[in-house]
Amino acid sequence: MPNMDPEKTPIPEQAPGERIQNFQEVTLGYTEEQAKQEAERCLRCKKQPCMDGCPVQVPIAEFIGHVAAGNFKEAYSVITRENRLPAICGRVCPQETQCEALCVRGLKGEAVGIGRLERFVADYALSAAIAPRPPEKTNGIKVAVVGSGPAGITCAGELAQSGFEVTIFEALHAPGGVLMYGIPEFRLPKKLVQKEIEAVTNLGVRFEKNVIIGRSITVDELIKEEGFRAVFIGSGAGLPNFMRIPGENLNGVYSANEFLTRSNLMGAYDSSRNATPIRVGKSVAVVGGGNVAMDAARTARRLGAEKVIIVYRRSEKELPARLEEIQHAREEQIEFQLLTNPIEILGDKGEVTAIRCISMQLGEPDASGRRRPIPIKGSEEEIPVDTVIIAIGSSPNPLIRQTTPELHTEKWGGIIVNEETMESSRADVYAGGDTVTGAATVILAMGAGKQAAKAIKEKLLC
Ligand code: FAD
Ligand code: SF4
Repeated sequence: MPNMDPEKTPIPEQAPGERIQNFQEVTLGYTEEQAKQEAERCLRCKKQPCMDGCPVQVPIAEFIGHVAAGNFKEAYSVITRENRLPAICGRVCPQETQCEALCVRGLKGEAVGIGRLERFVADYALSAAIAPRPPEKTNGIKVAVVGSGPAGITCAGELAQSGFEVTIFEALHAPGGVLMYGIPEFRLPKKLVQKEIEAVTNLGVRFEKNVIIGRSITVDELIKEEGFRAVFIGSGAGLPNFMRIPGENLNGVYSANEFLTRSNLMGAYDSSRNATPIRVGKSVAVVGGGNVAMDAARTARRLGAEKVIIVYRRSEKELPARLEEIQHAREEQIEFQLLTNPIEILGDKGEVTAIRCISMQLGEPDASGRRRPIPIKGSEEEIPVDTVIIAIGSSPNPLIRQTTPELHTEKWGGIIVNEETMESSRADVYAGGDTVTGAATVILAMGAGKQAAKAIKEKLLC
């Protein structure tokens, strides 16, 4: 008999008052008993609508069936047939708009906790050192991957598993892309990211770190001089967007990208061990409403800010962040000033002193399908703050497109690809992830990496 409890089995978490004092993970994960109990809520539907909501098509009911039976190792091998980074996806995927949105149990209560179960299985496998096996021999065909975020790692893993000789070129000193430099430790522990990347590396993938493609070597040279038969570009969208309002160059204004990189990758969050400076005043305004904004706000809180305000120009309903992140931010006393847009950052002697905002109302839907925010005349107000963090999105860095002839790109910089094969306008060059879609999600980047790997295999093995 399935467990007909309409609610998910609760997951242990650090209490808000305690967790804002540290950078340890907020959500602690299920025990074996809790995982089995949650797995019993799955009805093992014949049609499995949940799978349609998963961009990499994890066989959800099959792995959950193994969890219910206590066969965790089996569950892991089912998941990793389709998803190479389950500990990460279990933690950061927006399940409520993907697999869980289509779960039948969600019609009369809460959906099965698919993400929580995926995370449980992955953590179990990582702690038991269970990993996918490398192929017995390689096929001698060299493929280059640019960028080691989820798109690049997935593409590399799929190809290496099939015997290709894959080298990942990464601009930074640490692999992982946003998983390492963007998403904070309290949401995605870095040890775990390293372990999942290691599992892919162990399939035979080589890493060349501190290599900027387009500067150290070009895509053209990789193909013509280094003997790579195909190149996959997964270079992300790491160039922060700004609002272009007066005052953005004052001291105390950060892009979320810089703020989070200083804290995560450069270790400012652990000042006892790292000397990286990071300035967080008493009051911080974070502009934006996505995951990046929530991460910046919650990081600022942990770094000692007494008041942190999210300033977002649309309403609660349009907030693009994962539900859990919004809820956690609220529990951590982050304030939300919605339907509000900054128009100027004010300063004194070069330092931020306040942010001037205007109230908004929502009009007709715009091209994104969301209702367009319209300023309300005469509603300007000043909010006193000493730090402003801008988290309004990011774009692909232009370096690769500038140094790769024949690569067609969108006006905003995204690389144009065939949506099925991820092949670009230049033969043998493929691309996927944020560099194609603009800032999106981990699982969409992984899906693109998988699609490209499939097309590369088909082309080079025929
Ligand atoms: P990236 O992860 O950006 O990786 C690209 C890599 O390419 C980087 O390592 C970069 O250094 C490297 N690179 C760039 N240019 C070059 C070059 N010229 N040569 C060599 N290497 C290069 N998504 C979710 O699903 N859930 C979340 O909760 C979530 N939270 C987020 C929080 C933050 C703070 C941020 C910034 C993003 C978040 N996202 C989240 C979005 C998600 O992380 C991205 O969509 C995803 O990482 C994109 O993967 P990618 O592989 O395309 O690019
Ligand atoms: Fe299980 Fe929900 Fe998927 Fe049905 S839709 S198989 S109940 S997870």
